[in-house]
Amino acid sequence: MNREFFFLRLFVNYPYINIHTHHHPDENDVISLLNITEDPALTPTNKWVSIGIHPWQKNNAEIENIKKIARNTHVIAIGECGLDKLIDIDLKVQEEIFVQQLKIAVKEKKPVIIHCVKAFNELIRIKKENKITVPLLVHGFNNNDQIGKELIKNGFYLSFGKALLTKGSNASKIIKELPTDRIFLETDDADISIKRIFECAALILSINEDELRKMIYKNFKKVFTNE
Ligand SMILES: [Zn+2]
Repeated sequence: MNREFFFLRLFVNYPYINIHTHHHPDENDVISLLNITEDPALTPTNKWVSIGIHPWQKNNAEIENIKKIARNTHVIAIGECGLDKLIDIDLKVQEEIFVQQLKIAVKEKKPVIIHCVKAFNELIRIKKENKITVPLLVHGFNNNDQIGKELIKNGFYLSFGKALLTKGSNASKIIKELPTDRIFLETDDADISIKRIFECAALILSINEDELRKMIYKNFKKVFTNE
């Protein structure tokens, strides 16, 4: 996975990295990993995208399609995909579709953006059982300390979004406790700028924003470009 990110050299400062969003952002000092549902070849874009079957979708007919699209060089991650115990789809069915996507990620050597609701034990078990070696990133993390530490212990990365803006949220408490090389930031589907999230995270972590930008950028390079 040795991709060249030539355009990064255009940035004077480290860019803001938005590791998971559903919106097309247009700020030129932001690198966004846009979550899409169709082939990037059909919708020409110079953006970095993730593609996968969301657990709410329940459509494993799409798997063959994902397999093909995953090879596209614009696709730098698989997902979002995962497990959700609050929806009315059998967890076994969800697991089957999720594991198929993990295998695609392993084959293509690409990280995975994970949606996980109340199924963290299952998530950790699935990673172990299938010996998944590509980086797995749980997005929108806002769970308790114990779950967070367990995920870190098992090699996961965590991404934090708008929950950081809420004083006293789990996200705002746990982000301080984690190794800095496992953290990412995101807007997901919220209608806010990633810069607002960075501003808030820098305050919580008691570091300046430039340091934070450098830190997240380094994580991005390591996990998504293998540098
Ligand atoms: Zn999302």
